[in-house]
Amino acid sequence: MSAAVIDGKAFAERLRERVAEAVPAFASRAGRKPGLAVVLVGDDPASRVYVRSKGKATLAAGMASFEHCLAEATGQAELVDLVQSLNRDDRVDGILVQLPLPRHIDDKAVIGVIDPAKDVDGFHVENAGRLAVGEEALVPCTPLGCIMLLKDRLGDLSGLEAVVVGRSNIVGKPMAQLLIRENCTVTTAHSRTRDLPAVVRRGDIVVAAAGRAEMIKGDWLKPGATVIDVGINRIAGKLVGDVDFESAAATAGAITPVPGGVGPMTIAVLLRNTLTAAHARAGLPAPEGL
Ligand code: NDP
Repeated sequence: MSAAVIDGKAFAERLRERVAEAVPAFASRAGRKPGLAVVLVGDDPASRVYVRSKGKATLAAGMASFEHCLAEATGQAELVDLVQSLNRDDRVDGILVQLPLPRHIDDKAVIGVIDPAKDVDGFHVENAGRLAVGEEALVPCTPLGCIMLLKDRLGDLSGLEAVVVGRSNIVGKPMAQLLIRENCTVTTAHSRTRDLPAVVRRGDIVVAAAGRAEMIKGDWLKPGATVIDVGINRIAGKLVGDVDFESAAATAGAITPVPGGVGPMTIAVLLRNTLTAAHARAGLPAPEGL
């Protein structure tokens, strides 16, 4: 192995500390803590774990946490009513509706009701559109976390070839937009891409977000490439990424591990987005260095 391992866990811990340090200044100016509301519908065990850890992290950062756990049978109208009441609640700066929602609920319709100023997941079309046209936006947490790791590792990303594997609205597309914003030359690959290994080999930066266990091999990579593995796949009870870590680490210059790479960044950026949304809602300038 020659690649440096990018320690997302340590970076995320530092980001959480910086957020926590900025909370008292906000609270003294705004007269209240920043608040994050998380809404869970149903009993999906993985979602329950995520919601619990988001709540804990919110409290640990000194923010107010509002958890709403609704029964699987909750109707769309009831969920929309709850989101609208959170929109009106001045203590709430961020609203996160945990996905996936039960099949009888249209997640686009629910996300569309969230006040874009409180859309800390950045999934509302208004925030997606703002990101696409280069305006201030709340940006999805996972890709924003990836950009933070890349800039920490590489500094200025201008002119680098970046290949994003995956084009979902949650990861791939916002990732590509953020890389364009950083002046990279960006290729977005997906399941219809021809000769994926040749496309991936162009990348000085490769972001893997396909949800395909260990698909990207070391001999697909340009030597020295920086590899960000977003994938979370469970094989025989073990978590693996979309990149075959062992072979990739022999070719890459730097690589994120799974677990301990991108995963911990997501919650840290969620807290950062909540703090940013709180400042914007209170008419205060964005907190520095976040
Ligand atoms: P989606 O399933 O929504 O999207 C997967 C994307 O990968 C699609 O665009 C799909 O192409 C593309 N794809 C699938 N198979 C291939 C293939 N063989 N070759 C090339 N492209 C392919 O997944 P998400 O974007 O939501 O998530 C991606 C991964 O990231 C998952 O493993 C998920 O668990 C993980 N994840 C991790 C997070 C974290 O916090 N670390 C947060 C969010 C996600 P097409 O559009 O043509 O179907």
